[in-house]
Amino acid sequence: MPQEISDKTINDRWRRRIMEISGENVYQCMQCGTCAASCPMADDIDASPRKVMALIQFGQAEALDHLNTPWVCASCHMCVVRCTRGIDLPRVMEALRLTKLRDNVDHVEPSNLQPEEVVDLPQIAMVSGLRKFTS
Ligand code: SF4
Ligand code: SF4
Repeated sequence: MPQEISDKTINDRWRRRIMEISGENVYQCMQCGTCAASCPMADDIDASPRKVMALIQFGQAEALDHLNTPWVCASCHMCVVRCTRGIDLPRVMEALRLTKLRDNVDHVEPSNLQPEEVVDLPQIAMVSGLRKFTS
């Protein structure tokens, strides 16, 4: 009889995957909040980078599924420059996106985009957006 995998094991594996892809040790984050105070996207994200780090530390994969922060992060590196523990947060955000995209879960479905939404977009924005949001 196949053994059931507990939620804890699934979340532990998810956190390990995030750390492997990003190359960052999320346990180094001491929740100082400097990244949250520095982020230029603060008005547009559901949860601060500090909170994202806390959710990863506690293995809260499902809670993170509902947050837009990894997708809105502009990889501006402001938080990297100021992080008191030298954590490369954009790499962590990228790892969060990649865990979805590598499971073939696209964040944007190109065929659902309306012509009026894309007609004025610069071509380079379209290309980089599709690279970031689709697998
Ligand atoms: S890299 Fe992302 S999380 Fe960090 S400050 Fe810039 S937008 Fe915010
Ligand atoms: S600045 Fe660095 S140590 Fe402080 S909360 Fe953000 S990621 Fe964690």
